[in-house]
Amino acid sequence: MSAPVDPQVRRMPFIDLAAQQARLRPGIDAAIARVLDHGRYVMGPEVLELEAALADRTRTEQVVSCASGTDALYLAMRALGLRPGERVLVPAFTFAATAEAVALAGGEPVFVDVDPSTFVVDPASLADALAELEGPPPVGLVPVDLFGQPADHPVLTSLASEHGLWVVVDAAQSFGAEIGGRSTCAWGDVAATSFFPAKPLGGYGDGGAIFSADEAVADRVRSLRLHGQGADPYVHTEVGITGRLDTLQAAILLQKLTVFDDELAARALVADRYHDALHDILDLPEVTPGAVSAWAQYTIRVPGGAAVRDRFRELLAERGIPTAVYYPIPLHRQAAFAGAPVAPAGAPVADRLATEVVSLPMHPYLTVADQDRVIEAVREAVVRG
Ligand SMILES: *Cc1c(COP(=O)(O)O)cnc(C)c1O
Repeated sequence: MSAPVDPQVRRMPFIDLAAQQARLRPGIDAAIARVLDHGRYVMGPEVLELEAALADRTRTEQVVSCASGTDALYLAMRALGLRPGERVLVPAFTFAATAEAVALAGGEPVFVDVDPSTFVVDPASLADALAELEGPPPVGLVPVDLFGQPADHPVLTSLASEHGLWVVVDAAQSFGAEIGGRSTCAWGDVAATSFFPAKPLGGYGDGGAIFSADEAVADRVRSLRLHGQGADPYVHTEVGITGRLDTLQAAILLQKLTVFDDELAARALVADRYHDALHDILDLPEVTPGAVSAWAQYTIRVPGGAAVRDRFRELLAERGIPTAVYYPIPLHRQAAFAGAPVAPAGAPVADRLATEVVSLPMHPYLTVADQDRVIEAVREAVVRG
């Protein structure tokens, strides 16, 4: 964006990873030094330590760390036995990796619509797709906890089991979120999260993990992330990948976990303040009843089409306030997924959201003064236009 920003206006960061680093730096330096000292850069002790800590935090039995969130999704579907050409239901409004993982595992994504106020899978669109789509019935469902809001996992789980579908929860943005008294990572046959730096629990590079109650599925992911290794090295039972999490990332994530609950609470306070100050003038994100969001993003809707939304973003940029559009093109409109089936009524909500959504600065270190600057600028842009 090329808004003429007044040099007097201080530009605030969209996500402030530097503030977090300042808080954690001594512990992270020491953790990195320990890895350099022991030298076990691949599958070192920190990897198993992190997996145990994640299992504890999410109350899941099996955790397998992976090289990225995309690998975690891909390996989860491979481990559940997805076969070439089989169909998997995914929301049309999400990051590309959700559908990409289906395609990489040999499946065909089938796009369903989302709810306009929670941004997650609309169970009605899902039910329509299951009832009315021609062709082979889907074998699985990948609900996405978009922006940190849990999809309605209790409802989706029962719909899935009625239709004999497995569920892989895309919890890439929702580590820390809960619904029905359980971590989002404890839903589905498998859940997958990401440790990309900008995610709620982010490392200093790529990383991810799968969570499951099923030891056989978790063991298959353990093998697949290691080239399909069998009981012995250089015995390969199936085709796998290099899908492990680096020891250094595990060591860094262990440090970040020590402040994670505190950060989650700080994000929730920012969300509450945005809500209180803006709900009279805008449609704000809603959290499904009984759920706790991880507030990976705070995404509002500016109705009127992409030009109105872009003008709104410019007005904020002039005041030094960065915004982002997640996501400007829904997946059923992407060349990468051309020809993939879409729910019988299409995905009109995803289409509309793509022209309306704007994510505001959201991170645990956003000061009250900066929150007020965001609020004031948003009010001014909406009211005066
Ligand atoms: C980030 C993200 C992924 C992929 O995670 P990576 O670690 O970047 O591979 C998958 N799904 C969603 C919804 C994401 O936001």
